Parts: sequence; structure tokens; C-alpha cells
Amino acid sequence: MTVDLHLHSKASDGTESPAQVVRRASRLGVTTIALTDHDTLAGIAEAKAAAAPLPIDLIPGTELSVDWPTGKMHLLVYFLEPIAGPLQDRLAWLREGRNRRNAAIVNRLQQLGYDVTLGEAEAQAEGPSVGRPHIADALVTKGYFDARSEAFHDLLADGGAAYIERVRLSAQEAISLARDSGAVPVIAHPYTIGLGRAEYRAAFRELTSLGLGGIEAYYPEHTPALRSHLASIADQLGIVATGGSDYHGTGKPGLEIGTGRGDLIVPDHVVTALAASRFT
Ligand code: AMP
Ligand code: ZN
Ligand code: FE
Ligand code: FE
Repeated sequence: MTVDLHLHSKASDGTESPAQVVRRASRLGVTTIALTDHDTLAGIAEAKAAAAPLPIDLIPGTELSVDWPTGKMHLLVYFLEPIAGPLQDRLAWLREGRNRRNAAIVNRLQQLGYDVTLGEAEAQAEGPSVGRPHIADALVTKGYFDARSEAFHDLLADGGAAYIERVRLSAQEAISLARDSGAVPVIAHPYTIGLGRAEYRAAFRELTSLGLGGIEAYYPEHTPALRSHLASIADQLGIVATGGSDYHGTGKPGLEIGTGRGDLIVPDHVVTALAASRFT
């Protein structure tokens, strides 16, 4: 059995529709997936419908970028149903923040001499959650770059010439809103937080006291040593070591659903443990 709890679709910045993502996962033999589009649940209904006739379970989710005293981090939220709720109701506010920020980024790009408009960036997105990847795609379409990642490297990456901040929830707010919504918050790809190996335990202990339910240990960019280090921290804290590929279709080349870059294995007992965490 194979599991992949971190997937993006066209509802945010993936390049395949939610149904295509579900069918691809099933074709690859994956038995449980989570759709975790950035700041939106817009793909969930389509994904559930696509999963219904297939031997695959779909966990509804999202991925947020949150503030933390030492920087920012991504938070995966699992079992977040596409209905009204405390966290669900804040997603629209986050997307409005994205829209303001997208306009500011496009302005900055124009000042830098790039002939690109907000409309062109929005036209790259099919869902409601528009962001830097779509602006990057617009720059590629205009012939400035060969790939999304090159536009990030030269302009859009954090701290880059066209980087602009956007509104975020704090980690604490997001974790309690998730719990109040019956969902399970999990720290995504910890290697991006900028903590040293020895600093994870203390940071995650504090977040666990706030309601954190898991740590994404099994992640393509984590070395085998980091995967087991993070899994043992999760174990010690009594939370779940989760994992996923962060598949974005062609938006993030080289990744496959279920296997990442070929060596990803997410144990299937993770799903049961995560489901149990909803009620702890
Ligand atoms: P945003 O949500 O608008 O801040 O954009 C951040 C998203 O852009 C991330 O979640 C990734 O999906 C994507 N991203 C970040 N860095 C890169 C990169 N270097 N190349 C391609 N995509 C990236
Ligand atoms: Zn993304
Ligand atoms: Fe992320
Ligand atoms: Fe992601």
C-alpha cells in the first residue's frame, strides 16, 4: 500500500486538474492521498468525485504559509472539509491577501522592465488561489524564462528582486483554527524552516503544546537521515510522522505521486494515526 499526503492541483499551482491528480495516483497504485492546494479547498469536491469509483481514499486538505518567530513555515491541514468553519472562513481572507500581493509583484516587475500584467498572471491560474508560480508562468509564456523555477531563481524567490510579503496567519492561530475546524495541522517539509537539526525538537515541542498533530518527515528533499530524525522526534512528542511528494505536475519537475524522486516511502499506518489525531 502506498500513501501520499501532499499533492497540488490546478485549484492552486499544480498543472493537473484535481480529477487528473486522483486518477494518476490511483493508476500508480496509491491507496490514500491528500489534496493540499495552497489556501483553498476548491479542488476537493472534484477530487472526491474522481476518487469515489476508484480504490483510493481522498483526505481533504490545504497548505498554508504561516508566521513563526524565527521565520515562516508551511502548515499542512488534513481532514479540513470544504464547508463553512473557523479555518475555512479565513481562507478567503488569505486569498485576498494573495491577490493584493500579486498586484504589487506585477507592479514591481513592470518597474524592473518586464512587460507583464496582472491579467496575464491570473490567466495562468485555473483555480481561485493565484500566486507567484502563476506570475512565473506568465513570465515564461512571455519568453523571459524557460521554466517556472528560473523566474523564481532570478526574481520571485523569497528575498528576490520582485519578492513582496503577503498576509499570513501565525502558526499559533492556524493551528488552533485547524483544530477548531476538526482538522489536523502538520508541519510541512521542515527543512525549509531554517532550523538546525538539533533545534527541531524544541520548536516542535512548543507547537505540539499548541495542537500540532504531525511532522512531514517523509519528503523528497529530506535525506534518509533527516527523515528518520524527524520521525523519531514525532514519535517522542506523540504526534504523527507524515509524508508526501509535494507533486505539482510539471510545475515542479522530477516528482512522482507516491514515490517523489523514486525513494519516497510513506508508511500507510500514518493515515490511521492521523485520523485518530482528529479526536485527541
Ligand atoms: P506563493 O504561494 O504565491 O507564495 O508561492 C509559493 C509557491 O511557489 C510554493 O509553495 C511552491 O509551490 C512554488 N515555488 C516556490 N519556490 C519555487 C521555485 N524555486 N521553483 C518553482 N516553484 C516554486
Ligand atoms: Zn505549490
Ligand atoms: Fe510547501
Ligand atoms: Fe506543497
